[in-house]
Amino acid sequence: MSADLVILNAHMRPLFAAPGSTAIAVAAGRILATGDDAAIRTHIGAETRVIDAGGRALMPGFIESHLHLMMGGAALSMLNMGALFGFDPVRAALTDFAATQPGDGILFGYAVNYVIFGEGTRPDRHILDRIIPDRPLCLIATDLHCAWANTSALELAGILHGADPGPGSEVVMGADGLASGELREFAAMNRVKMLSPLQGRDAMDYRMTGQETAGARDHDRAVIRAAGDYCASLGITRAVNMDGNAWQAGLMRDLALAGEMPVRVSLPLMLEAKDGVEGVARIGDFGAEVPGWLSFGRIKLFMDGVFDTWTALTVTDYPDRPGFRSDPLIPPDLFNRICVEADRRGLQITTHAVGDGAVRAVIDGYEAAALANGKRDARHRIEHIDTITPDDLDRLKPLGITASMQPVHPPGSAGLPLEPTTTIMGRARWPTAFPWAMILARDVPLAFGTDWPVSPLSPLYAIHCALTRRLWADDMPDQRISLDECLAAYTTGGAFADFNETRAGRLAPGYDADLVLIDGSLENLATDARAATVALTICAGKITYGTF
Ligand SMILES: [Zn+2]
Repeated sequence: MSADLVILNAHMRPLFAAPGSTAIAVAAGRILATGDDAAIRTHIGAETRVIDAGGRALMPGFIESHLHLMMGGAALSMLNMGALFGFDPVRAALTDFAATQPGDGILFGYAVNYVIFGEGTRPDRHILDRIIPDRPLCLIATDLHCAWANTSALELAGILHGADPGPGSEVVMGADGLASGELREFAAMNRVKMLSPLQGRDAMDYRMTGQETAGARDHDRAVIRAAGDYCASLGITRAVNMDGNAWQAGLMRDLALAGEMPVRVSLPLMLEAKDGVEGVARIGDFGAEVPGWLSFGRIKLFMDGVFDTWTALTVTDYPDRPGFRSDPLIPPDLFNRICVEADRRGLQITTHAVGDGAVRAVIDGYEAAALANGKRDARHRIEHIDTITPDDLDRLKPLGITASMQPVHPPGSAGLPLEPTTTIMGRARWPTAFPWAMILARDVPLAFGTDWPVSPLSPLYAIHCALTRRLWADDMPDQRISLDECLAAYTTGGAFADFNETRAGRLAPGYDADLVLIDGSLENLATDARAATVALTICAGKITYGTF
């Protein structure tokens, strides 16, 4: 059988391909054969496209195990403020950005560090008013769990005099009796996000109203397409989109059926406490899957928030707030019942847990599901695991739990400052914070991602961060893992976590022809973030990024 595409003269790591392989043949979107150049040349026919890789590394496409396509696509038209610190640089960048956005619409910045104006100076509306006084402005924190709005945005949103957004969220009030500008957690942030052209449709808890216009559909479809193209430009061929709802499911199905999805997507249904156990049935609202391109069958929950807003649920008190451990976003008894019901329906459960108390509550819920329904190959996942107690580390493997983690999240990595996070978290939690090495040592399945747009999306940059992670103190355990372990977490690990290990993550006959060709040296990522770049991305045998 002659191939549609043949790639010769490539370097293929033993991690991914049979030893001695230097070439690959692709037909009908699948890998037809791998082998040495001579063997694969036999698959070249009159119609076969032949690419000489020039000795470059050929890998399976990256699997990004935790991102937000709608928010990420929206962020592509916001100002990325991740590298900005200090009033003057921030003012200069926002003033320049405003000039590129004519009109009087709201301006958004994202990836904003909590210490952007210096340690001990929390952003508030007064500082933002000095930068942009006459137009609504909203800065979204680097973890997406907090935002700061100027007075104009607070007024337009109708929350300058305060508002009760519901449990777990807060419109923070200032000493002057007016909102300070700080908006904690989604329900509070959404009051201001509603002012954007997306009108909150990119929000994590968006629900279809039935009033969505055709214009909104076209707009949002383009947003998702742009996000998918951006994924492809970074070598990503599969992604788990963590905040799924019926609106996104419909848009992605349209794109996939039109052959316009540059990346394959798994879409969990996002649920909140207010949905109750009955909410699990709403996965029926998603409609039909698109085989190979769009799959459902998963639910996403939040057990807690993040340390920077003291919303991470902890096992012991916050060191700076004696007696305080925050609250679960879902009461544990309800969480357990949701887990039992989802597991009974054969769904995969994936839950955000940052604090060690949240991780424990999630493990308890998954254990309850196994006890009620019997053990099965459920691969329920915990997202983030910023902190975990040593005892709970040992519970993951026996319960078959998968760890979904982000090498770009530890303070001190990816340009993130150590403060205030490490101090709020407390030193007692540091030895098992972001414990990738300890997770692998316990043979727990590990999948990597970035939580984009929380953090930069590039897998190669994330791998650089994992390889170069620094200790917060000399007496802390080293959580660095090897290059092959990082690559595995982005390929075979991500495939396993998403039930795709028989079709993704390897270069073997029958597997999806999802490939990435790397310029430069993967080995040198351990010292240089720019040592390796994506030259070509192929999804289902079609080039989605690069020219050759
Ligand atoms: Zn996320």
